[in-house]
Amino acid sequence: MEAFEYSALPARVVFGFGTLPRVTDELDALGRKRAFVLSDPHHADAGATRLMHALGKLGVHLSTDAVMHTPVDVTERVMAKLVAHNADCLISLGGGSTIGLGKALAFRTDLPQIVLPTTYAGSEATPVLGETDGGQKSTIRSMKVLPEVIIYDVELTYGLPPGLSLVSGINAIAHAVEALYAREANPVISNLAEQGIAALGRALPQIMADPANRDARSDALFGAWACGSCLGAVGMSLHHKLCHVLGGTFGLPHAETHTVILPHAAAYNAGAAPAAFDRVARALGAPDAAGALFDLALKNGAPTSLRQIGMSESDLDKAANAALQSAYWNPRPIERNPIRALLDDAYHGRRPS
Ligand code: NAD
Repeated sequence: MEAFEYSALPARVVFGFGTLPRVTDELDALGRKRAFVLSDPHHADAGATRLMHALGKLGVHLSTDAVMHTPVDVTERVMAKLVAHNADCLISLGGGSTIGLGKALAFRTDLPQIVLPTTYAGSEATPVLGETDGGQKSTIRSMKVLPEVIIYDVELTYGLPPGLSLVSGINAIAHAVEALYAREANPVISNLAEQGIAALGRALPQIMADPANRDARSDALFGAWACGSCLGAVGMSLHHKLCHVLGGTFGLPHAETHTVILPHAAAYNAGAAPAAFDRVARALGAPDAAGALFDLALKNGAPTSLRQIGMSESDLDKAANAALQSAYWNPRPIERNPIRALLDDAYHGRRPS
């Protein structure tokens, strides 16, 4: 075993089918009685209403204001309601956008958070908050935003459409791939990464074939937790930087951008981190990690090119320049010409070889 350092993040996880009503026990354990519930407009009729019903008098308000990119003006508006209701706990039910709003409020109030994730993005397992102000995205790392309790109820994910499940699951896989070659890589997180990639790699095609497959939904949600924990524990590299640039500067959709870029970021780094990519390939049961990641998207009908998700070819130079700004760790040096070539391959959707 090589030398390593590892700091575990505190986490309480309740995982299973039909776990939503456990929220009252968790509130009780936290000693809280006035829960402010967050969701997005799509969940108003489904999970969020059931959650309010389960909470009864413990739920003081349901806000369905969450939107993409956690804009500060929305946070401030919801903050006023939070104060007016004298809430003592935040409960977020939804995907990364809803969880982002909960984290933004927790950052400002230090209230505890219980989170019920409905996608595979993994934000619930990280002490990271991304928010936008006047079109500028900034990232804050603080223990104040790490949720105290995560309740995974597999049944909440049954309604996630197959196409969204696929790109959201590949978004999760990206966290684990980058964790395997992170500067702070360690055996605990690397094992979790490999488990997470394997669970999602197996489950996503099954979900595409049968979105109501309970075992596949359960495996995928477990994989999301494993991969999200990787994102929370170690630093990310080229792949996440590129996706941040493409999402922030060109407004490309989050999970789809991860899906398109991942095979190309993997191909870029493969030679510099062979042991990490052997583990990715083993988890996917394929000889070549980058090719297998591309095939996972292509064979299941996810977008495989930047062109398909709204990027303009004339912006590729600007994207390459942005990817070179501000130094960050990556196993292979970040050089303009190879990065520009990577973006060209991703734009045209060429399978990495
Ligand atoms: P999202 O929360 O915006 O959800 C995408 C869409 O899916 C929404 O329309 C939502 O209503 C719908 N949806 C969610 N769950 C559903 C379900 N079970 N059934 C039907 N529809 C459902 O997107 P996301 O991909 O989950 O999250 C993306 C956001 O999360 C980005 O802003 C990203 O930056 C952030 N994020 C943050 C971190 C972090 O650590 N801070 C980690 C990952 C993602």
